[in-house]
Amino acid sequence: MSVPGRRPRPSTDPAGPLDERLVDALGRLARAERAHARRMANGLGLSVLQTHVLEELADGPVPVGRLAAVLGVRQPTVSDAVEALVRKGLVERRAGTDGRSRLVALRPSGRRLVPTLGAVAAARRRAVRGCEPRVQAGALEVVLRSIAELWRAGAIGIARTCVTCRHFEAGPGRGRPRCALLGEALPPARWRLDCPDHEAAA
Ligand code: SF4
Repeated sequence: MSVPGRRPRPSTDPAGPLDERLVDALGRLARAERAHARRMANGLGLSVLQTHVLEELADGPVPVGRLAAVLGVRQPTVSDAVEALVRKGLVERRAGTDGRSRLVALRPSGRRLVPTLGAVAAARRRAVRGCEPRVQAGALEVVLRSIAELWRAGAIGIARTCVTCRHFEAGPGRGRPRCALLGEALPPARWRLDCPDHEAAA
């Protein structure tokens, strides 16, 4: 698909430059997933953010602050979404094991929605598992570098990935990345999406 304002670059491949096709494909995927998420949320009488909250709770209770970090929105915004879900009987608030932290957990009616909400993730999982590990590592590098660019541009909040971490060293010619904290080589196949040792790069 041609993008307005962008001059096509010459390519020996009749399909067009590989990098441009990849950028276009990622954009098309994001638009398709956004449209699907809106349709599904409307059909369930929920907001898109509320459906994301339900998906994040599928593996167990999560503190509100953690939900905000994972979903890339401010804590008051997530709290409003959680309150709406509590009123709809889909989630409940619970005390954490330390008695102080507050967790959000699915109620049975919320859990029944999880398979419907997870249809896109299941399709993504099938596609990824159909690719060889070296292809998966290349795709992971593209996606994490894209997340890092959005983070640097201030378009998203916390991103606890290797590429945004001050311990990440790209290596000579960006060819041999390593983690200075762990003292280990860090090829893209090992890049973390949510590392507990992450410290944001300056
Ligand atoms: S501390 Fe974690 S996020 Fe940072 S470079 Fe090392 S492994 Fe990656």
